[in-house]
Amino acid sequence: MRKKKIIVVGGGAAGFFCAIQIAELHPHWDIIILEKTNKLLSKVKVSGGGRCNVTHACPDVELLLKKYPRGERFLKKAFYQFATKNTIEWFAQNGVQLHTEKDGRMFPTTNSSETIIDCFLRKVHQYKIQVLTQHEVLDIKHNNSNASITNTSNEIKNQNAFTIQMQGRDPMQADAICLATGGMLKSDRLNWLTQFEV
Ligand SMILES: Cc1cc2nc3c(=O)[nH]c(=O)nc-3n(C[C@H](O)[C@H](O)[C@H](O)COP(=O)(O)OP(=O)(O)OC[C@H]3O[C@@H](n4cnc5c(N)ncnc54)[C@H](O)[C@@H]3O)c2cc1C
Repeated sequence: MRKKKIIVVGGGAAGFFCAIQIAELHPHWDIIILEKTNKLLSKVKVSGGGRCNVTHACPDVELLLKKYPRGERFLKKAFYQFATKNTIEWFAQNGVQLHTEKDGRMFPTTNSSETIIDCFLRKVHQYKIQVLTQHEVLDIKHNNSNASITNTSNEIKNQNAFTIQMQGRDPMQADAICLATGGMLKSDRLNWLTQFEV
């Protein structure tokens, strides 16, 4: 039987971490990251002045939520699934120790964002996640009206639910997609997404 194929759009911190999490939960899925530029994790490199402020020493989820007055409700479910404690543990399990500054900001003990980049690159290599640069996604279409995917099994309910159109590339098919294109884009760059029919 064919393996499930999931495409993650965006080769930044969110796209990498998402792809790695999918691989940890579903080791038999085919996972591909599509990045439009020729650089990976470029914002991670400059983050925290080149040191990468990975997380904050705030293990209390309710207290953490209070720090997001406009996003508290939206973030609640996500934080109860994966919050600062899980972030610290995940990096420790993957060989990255963090230290805490007086104000609570947490950085890798190396004080270098390269440590985080190396960790992510090591994990995608370990899980054989394909990372394709210079693959700009221009549009995504449902292949049929009842396209869907079961979350937990490896069984494919609908074959290739999505077609991904890219700049100057042959289209790709996927059973599921994850969009991690970051913020600060000009809104017209996301017209294809606003027109996407669920
Ligand atoms: C100077 C600076 C310092 C920062 N410091 C910190 C810090 O210390 N700690 C912290 O947590 N955050 C910091 N941030 C915020 C940081 O940007 C985010 O936390 C994180 O990098 C965002 O990751 P992301 O994957 O969501 O987005 P991005 O890093 O923006 O990644 C999105 C990726 O998607 C790609 N993409 C977009 N559209 C498409 C498309 N159509 N097809 C294919 N690929 C596409 C983009 O090229 C990009 O590579 C900092 C930001 C800046 C600018």
